[in-house]
Amino acid sequence: MRLHGRGPQGSGEHPVKRRTLFLIAGSGLLTKGLRAAPQLSEEPADVVVVGTGAAGLSAALAAVDGGARRVVLLEKAPMAGGHTIISSGSVAAEKTPEGIAGLTNEIIENGEGRADPVLARTLAEGSWAARERLTALGIDWITTPFRAVGSPSARSWNSGSPQSGYDYVQVMMAALRKTSASVRFLSRAEGLLLSEKGKSVEGIYVRTRSGDSILIRARAIVLATGGFTASGTLLKRFAPQLPPDLETTASAGGELLDGATGDGILMAEKAGAKLVDMDALQMLPLAGGRLLDYVGGEVWVNDRGRRFVSEGAGFREIERAIAKQPSKSMWVISDARSPKGATLGLKLMDGTVREAGTLEEAAHGMRVSYSALQETIERYNRSVRKHWDDDFGIPMRGLPVETPPFFYGREHFALHYSCGGIAITPRAEVLRPDGSVIRGLYAAGEATGGVHGAARVGGCGLTDAFVFGDIAGREAARFA
Ligand SMILES: Cc1cc2nc3c(=O)[nH]c(=O)nc-3n(C[C@H](O)[C@H](O)[C@H](O)COP(=O)(O)OP(=O)(O)OC[C@H]3O[C@@H](n4cnc5c(N)ncnc54)[C@H](O)[C@@H]3O)c2cc1C
Repeated sequence: MRLHGRGPQGSGEHPVKRRTLFLIAGSGLLTKGLRAAPQLSEEPADVVVVGTGAAGLSAALAAVDGGARRVVLLEKAPMAGGHTIISSGSVAAEKTPEGIAGLTNEIIENGEGRADPVLARTLAEGSWAARERLTALGIDWITTPFRAVGSPSARSWNSGSPQSGYDYVQVMMAALRKTSASVRFLSRAEGLLLSEKGKSVEGIYVRTRSGDSILIRARAIVLATGGFTASGTLLKRFAPQLPPDLETTASAGGELLDGATGDGILMAEKAGAKLVDMDALQMLPLAGGRLLDYVGGEVWVNDRGRRFVSEGAGFREIERAIAKQPSKSMWVISDARSPKGATLGLKLMDGTVREAGTLEEAAHGMRVSYSALQETIERYNRSVRKHWDDDFGIPMRGLPVETPPFFYGREHFALHYSCGGIAITPRAEVLRPDGSVIRGLYAAGEATGGVHGAARVGGCGLTDAFVFGDIAGREAARFA
């Protein structure tokens, strides 16, 4: 089941109390309340956070920590986690001034000049504190950083388990349960209530689990609703060049629950927010033959059994290289030695990945020339041993692929990440096109744009959500 709901475009279905003048930003309806309408049930809050991914959970914890007494966390799905819970869990984090500067520069370069340098630096500067907050909640990080796929350097960490994203959600939810914050599942935010003239937010309309609409009057609201890779409507509007039936990495085959329908982006837009980089959608080969989220354990070859792109290239370079292949796909080969992600069992079960006792058997299964494949793998292994990639003339680290059984599977693009979204300040305040802020409205995580520009560095999606979620929660508490 996909959660492709109607989103917050709304319908003017929220009745408005008599004699009030409010802008209902979910519906775009400016109503001078002269018509009779049933009373809408209301409740007060200091801070409402929408979404229980890395950004929303970070924001809720920070809001409580920042002194907000009545914090409400809304989640439209029946469970917490969004894309965060299914993510591989690579978190880019740097501590030293050199590391922070290096990460900032990589984000800016990778974003092809479109990232906001101040936001990029904010991410890098906040990355280590984000890691430490998770440590305090119980995450036991691996001891050496690794090079996440789509990242130029080894700056990423995870909890050492193949389900690191699950671990982060788990510890943050456990911490939140110990606070007075109210966490509500099956509660969909549907629209923002703005003040007269629309200068600040005053509340949020919510469809509760019982199907009723309520209005939570809040002093500050954090939109942490994730991206829009699962919204056919938004993809058609902002990236009409993409095929309509494109799979997403969050929901391969379109069968899983995916709440990334851009709800917060639409609510903010209707409230007058600026949207940035909405065309910057990231494609990734992930839902097929790939089993690892780090560089240095698998070999990518084309239908001729030859490498055609470095496995450590940036997401955009990988995308372009695969697009040039006649089949628009590639084969991925790994062996028994490399630690695998959580998907191995499932992929073996449904045939996405196959096991072969020898390289010859793998070549046969892939229908590529065995001699070409053997030559490619031998050259790859030689490159690994001398730390220099002879195919692409660049430094290289990793494990040789030589220990049976081998694993192989075909891999193709799937839509992975939306780089664009709501424009924010470094304090996570939501910006209007004229550069002013909508008072009391904050946004964080994949719902926002400008942090990464045209493309995102591997490991920086989660860091973005942890860092800006925390900033948004703290700022919202201060404002409230
Ligand atoms: C398969 C996969 C692997 C990934 N691996 C990595 C990785 O290793 N490293 C990395 O940096 N990034 C990775 N990413 C990207 C990263 O996971 C996301 O960018 C990040 O988790 C986004 O966090 P978020 O809190 O902004 O949004 P999400 O985690 O998506 O959470 C948003 C939440 O908001 C809820 N919501 C939406 N609309 C409403 C509404 N109207 N009312 C109430 N609730 C609502 C959603 O249901 C969802 O639970 C991966 C993504 C995928 C799909």
